[in-house]
Amino acid sequence: MAASREDRVIYLDNAATTPCDPRVVEAMLPYFTEHFGNTGSRNHRYGWEAEAAVDTAREQVAALLGADEKEIIFTSGATESNNLAIKGVAYMYEKAPAGSGACRGHIITTSIEHKAVLDPCKRLQKEGFEVTFLDPPADGVFTAAMVEAAIRPDTILVSMMWANNEIGTINEVPQIGALCHARDIIFHTDATQWAGKMPVDVERDCIDLLSLSGHKLYGPKGIGALYVRRRKPRVRLQALVDGGGQERGYRSGTLNVTGIVGLGKAAALAKAEMDAEGQRLLALRKRLESMVTSQLDHCAVNGHADKRLPHIANISFGFVEGESLMMACKELAVSSGSACTSASLEPSYVLKGLGVGDELAHSSLRLSMGRFTKDSDIDAAVASIVKAVRKLRELSPLYDMHNEGIDLSKVEWGHH
Ligand code: PMP
Repeated sequence: MAASREDRVIYLDNAATTPCDPRVVEAMLPYFTEHFGNTGSRNHRYGWEAEAAVDTAREQVAALLGADEKEIIFTSGATESNNLAIKGVAYMYEKAPAGSGACRGHIITTSIEHKAVLDPCKRLQKEGFEVTFLDPPADGVFTAAMVEAAIRPDTILVSMMWANNEIGTINEVPQIGALCHARDIIFHTDATQWAGKMPVDVERDCIDLLSLSGHKLYGPKGIGALYVRRRKPRVRLQALVDGGGQERGYRSGTLNVTGIVGLGKAAALAKAEMDAEGQRLLALRKRLESMVTSQLDHCAVNGHADKRLPHIANISFGFVEGESLMMACKELAVSSGSACTSASLEPSYVLKGLGVGDELAHSSLRLSMGRFTKDSDIDAAVASIVKAVRKLRELSPLYDMHNEGIDLSKVEWGHH
């Protein structure tokens, strides 16, 4: 049942997922019923119609990235794209066979990637590859110099997210790409939070493999893409899913035509509207951050001051607990510092990685704006957060003690 106006929850969790743009849904609808063919049906009209639609979508996704349409592999989302890129490269370019006892190859990534990169890397580690997980500096931004210092003669792959999903920090991806190209190392970027929001040119940015996901750019869930460079260098992958040989053999299975049409349309819209939308979102984010920090003491915006995505704000609020804050702002759909990790209330490994203490990592909110966020949503969200933080602090003995000038770090707490 649709929520009434009064109990409408303001959606500020666009980094978790975005609603489908109605223009995307409209483009998809005929492919469920009228044009329902299988692209593999080469001998009748239904198949040809489906294939033509997939060709168009492939061109649209390629255009978003400055790529050739032959370089786009459709997958089920960024998790699958990351797995295919990382494991696919590792198995194809290994330096020593499994079970030989020798290092099968060295991979460089970071300790604050999404689990969809961390976990494939950890699996490869168990299988005999060596992985360097670079720790972030306090501002969260990885530079080419940091990667350069970790390169070894047997490094086969660097996988670095373009922008972080929790704090929105932007890494030096084009510089890291150039470094990898100069050293003949394959470079993969998880661009799930970047693609469709910020410009990509795989040639200029020296990218060999790039993952993206439909549901982060106003397309449907369960569809994504992997860009695979075909020349200079030609990147080869070992397939993870075997079968009918679709997607140039890299990803077997009947194509999700409706999803692909939706992703294509979403990519075309994102490309056309990116500049204006980016500026609008940046203004919204800056307004949100400055309104919150000017009305509340003891709060800090996490991540680099400027090298951050326009639409993600991550703020720590001293003397409150993130989960209680979320409970106190039920009219807001936001994410706490622990939401992405699991149902357990472990503080975010990303914030901890940046050196944010457990206390503050627990008291953080991620607010992420999107295409359908209005100015009035920001005003309402700020009002609700400010009110909730003040109320929770009124109940906080720690905040009282702090205001009385007691140095909490020196207090000896009883151990029972
Ligand atoms: N990488 C990043 C950076 C993400 O933010 C996400 C989604 N939270 C993923 C990968 C996984 O994407 P998908 O849901 O399409 O598998």
